[in-house]
This record gives sequence, C-alpha cells and structure tokens, in this order.
Amino acid sequence: MRDLRISVTDRCNFRCVYCMPKDVFGRDYPFLRQTDLLTFEEITRLARIFKAHGVQKIRLTGGEPLLRKHLERLVEMLKDVGDIDLTLTTNGALLAHKARELKIAGLSRVTVSLDALDDGIFRAMNDVDFPVAKVLEGIDAAADAGLAPIKINMVVKRGVNEREILPMARRFKGSGHILRFIEYMDVGHTNGWRMDDVVPSAEVLRIIGAELPLEPIDPNYTGEVAERWRYADARSDDAGEIGVISSVTQAFCRDCTRARLSTEGKLYTCLFATHGFDFRTLLRDGSDDERISDTIAAIWLQRGDRYSEIRSEHTATLPKIEMSYIGG
Ligand code: SAM
Ligand code: SF4
Repeated sequence: MRDLRISVTDRCNFRCVYCMPKDVFGRDYPFLRQTDLLTFEEITRLARIFKAHGVQKIRLTGGEPLLRKHLERLVEMLKDVGDIDLTLTTNGALLAHKARELKIAGLSRVTVSLDALDDGIFRAMNDVDFPVAKVLEGIDAAADAGLAPIKINMVVKRGVNEREILPMARRFKGSGHILRFIEYMDVGHTNGWRMDDVVPSAEVLRIIGAELPLEPIDPNYTGEVAERWRYADARSDDAGEIGVISSVTQAFCRDCTRARLSTEGKLYTCLFATHGFDFRTLLRDGSDDERISDTIAAIWLQRGDRYSEIRSEHTATLPKIEMSYIGG
C-alpha cells in the first residue's frame, strides 16, 4: 500500500455526465449529512496509521474537494504527519481563490480536470454553466503558487469531446503541465457506461502523434497508472510530456498500490468495489490505534481485487459505489 486517496466530500458543483449525471434519482444525489463525514482530526489520525503501513502519497479528492470548508486546515494537519507527498484533484472551479493558501498550508501539487477548451463541449461533458477560462485561471494560479508540476486530466467520451484531443494537446504542449487522457470508465452505476463510448488510449496517441510526433518514456515507478509519452521535439527545459490512463483497454490491477477512504470513512481496496469497511465506527467507538492498524492490515492482505482485468458489459451493470463518494 503506497497511495491513499481520501474523499473529503461527496458534493460537487459540476455534474459531469460520466460521474454525477443529473436527474438520475429524479432529484439530486442523496448527499451525506455533515455529521456523517469524517472530521479533519479523524482523517489525520487514520493518515498516521496508514503511513505506518507504507503509504507515501495522499491525494485529497471527492466530489469536489475544494467545496469542503477550511480544506487548507486539513492540508496543514496532514502535512504534520510528515514525509508524505500531499496532492489534490480538483475540477478547478475554485482553484484561483484557493491555490496560494493550499500551497502555504503544505500541499505539494494539484491535478486539474479539464475535458475541453471549447465552452460548448465543456458544458456537454460537465453539464454546468462555467467558463473554461475560469478553470484555466485556476491552473495559472496553481502554477504561480508553485503547485507544480500540474497534471491536467481529460476524460475522453466518444462523440462528445474527442475532437478536443488535439486542441488540448496543442494548448498544453510547452506549458510545463502534464496533460493526461483518461479512458472513460464504468465507475458507479449512474453514468450508463457503454464500451462504445470509450475512446481507447491507442487511438488518442494516434490522433496526437499524426500531428505532434511522440515517443514513449519509462514509468517513474512501478504501478504508475499513466503510461508516459514525450513530444519528439520537446525542449529540454520543458517536461514536454503527456500521459494516457488506459484502465479499460489495458488493465493495471496487478500493480495497484492504491487504497481509498470514502467521505464517511469506509475503506475501499478498489475503485470498482461494491463494499467498503467502516472505519468511522472504529474511530468513534474508542478503538485504539493498534486495533485500527491491525484491521487495515487484515483488509489489505485479503484483497483480491482485479475488476478491470475481468471487466465486461455484464460487470458494468453491477451496483458499484459512485466515484464522487468513494473518491476519484
Ligand atoms: N471533482 C474533482 C475532479 O473532477 O477533478 C475530483 C474528483 S473526480 C471523481 C476525480 C477524477 O476522476 C477526475 O479527473 C474525473 O475526470 C475522473 N473521473 C470521474 N468519472 C470518471 C469516469 N467515469 N471515467 C474516467 N474518469 C472519471
Ligand atoms: Fe464533480 Fe469531479 Fe465528478 Fe465532475 S468528475 S462531477 S467535477 S466529482
């Protein structure tokens, strides 16, 4: 276990069609109550115990993590756990206001999701009236604050934003930011995923490579989810790098070192899990750190998750947990 993703809220100010599509329940999502959420103190206590199990990297996510009040306070508390690479994934809507204080609090880097440069296509993906320019402002603010290298996540959905692949590549080439193309996945059960909607990474690489030649580069470490590529003409002072995350066409379960803590404190050992272990009860019933630690070890040692390796149209309809809740 190397990588812990912590969902700090199940709420979001976007309604991405691949994550929290509107009108699924005939009303809005059944969000958790404030008292159901783990407190910052509870999250920090768990983080210390997870660190003793080998966790080196913590990613704050959600839902939209910047909607959680005083998130910078949690960043400060997690920083005190010591020697942890602390990152955050955001849709960028509130990033321009928050980047500096997050950096001061101790955040190392950010990943910003951005599915299109064109406002109309952005709207078709994220189902929100929000100008792309504001997300770009957030990215600039993060770069100014030193939250770099910045990664930019683009989910590609067939027929919706695939024509934005090249404009996005052109826009971020030479920026120092690392653009990553993510295959649309069958997370949760509300997005109506179909294999036909997936644009395989191989196709993305072909589209970009035809105009901007690419060459493969080695992974930074075993278990890295993104396959790395470099522009053949990249300058030496610029990363010149892109990545593809092919969790549908090239499953990487066997190298997975990630655990996920949901907003209300359930531990999931796979993004596609149907059940999680309730740590909030242990945190609130007076269990000591040793008991919590032993429970983590038992869960991790038993894990046999390999959903992406056995994925099919059939498994896509299983009642999986929504990504906004489990933490993307
Ligand atoms: N709200 C934040 C954001 O959008 O960056 C953080 C949470 S979001 C669930 C984390 C990441 O998961 C985002 O980059 C998002 O694009 C990605 N994601 C969500 N649903 C997905 C899906 N069905 N397939 C692939 N990636 C998905
Ligand atoms: Fe919100 Fe992120 Fe999900 Fe989009 S991907 S709905 S921004 S949590």
